[in-house]
Amino acid sequence: MGFRTRFAPSPSGPLHLGHAYSALTAFDMAQAASGTFHLRLDDIDQSRARPEWEAQISDDLHWLGLSWPAPVWRQSDRLPGYRAALERLWAQGLLYPCTCSRRDIQAAANAPQEGAPLHGPDGLVYPGTCRDRPRHGPMPAGEAIRLDMRKAMQAIGSTSFQEHIHHPGRHEVTPDEMIATVGDVVLARRDMGTSYHLSIVIDDAEQQITDVIRGQDLFDATAIHVVLQRLLGLPTPRYHHHRLIRDETGKRLAKRDDARAIALYRAEGHTPAAIRRMIGLGPAA
Ligand code: GLU
Ligand code: ZN
Repeated sequence: MGFRTRFAPSPSGPLHLGHAYSALTAFDMAQAASGTFHLRLDDIDQSRARPEWEAQISDDLHWLGLSWPAPVWRQSDRLPGYRAALERLWAQGLLYPCTCSRRDIQAAANAPQEGAPLHGPDGLVYPGTCRDRPRHGPMPAGEAIRLDMRKAMQAIGSTSFQEHIHHPGRHEVTPDEMIATVGDVVLARRDMGTSYHLSIVIDDAEQQITDVIRGQDLFDATAIHVVLQRLLGLPTPRYHHHRLIRDETGKRLAKRDDARAIALYRAEGHTPAAIRRMIGLGPAA
């Protein structure tokens, strides 16, 4: 198997140093392995995606010395494939519709009989309010759709994946851990008909990505991705969750941290080599 990786930003803001670290790390690893590096646009959130950001992201990445084959995949072009996968899981009785608002979930999770509310990769672990709603007939449109994690884990058993940077080794998550600490995640948001988890898993498989390189903040989400890969019969890539770039106070750079935008460093006259030094990467190969 060769080496194929991708950088998958959301075109909803400028690239900052954290993105540059991720993209350059992936690109350098692909070069070192004589592999391929792809750019892919995670634009399922059409309320936030903007063509101007897409153009700025490509321009900044080119300036940093990166290149990638055309065409660039765009998630908003791929919705029917996500829908088809969702329908398959629905037909297996693994999904259910959910009409809870964020506030409903908060209230149910904080109910006295529930104990201390737990936070998982997607925020509060869903307390299961809608789990008994009917799952037969056509999948309802315009409602959020959740994965029944208990049923999913019964179908596949434990999940494991190979991690190469963050706690290197085989990482295993048991059914009990998945049920208690992750729970019934949303696979289709009401407003999008899909979710980050579902789309990324399908795209990585269809693009034959062998190595996923991304920040440590997504390490816990990877277990969800492996569950979806098993349920959908898709291969599990190798994972490399890298360190996060932090500001002087140790705070992780957020997407909104526009003060660290690569475009601003460019405007101030910094070079790509200077950007590499700032984030602790050696010179380009
Ligand atoms: N669009 C996602 C992000 O920027 C991609 C994460 C991933 O590589 O899976 O966080
Ligand atoms: Zn609900």
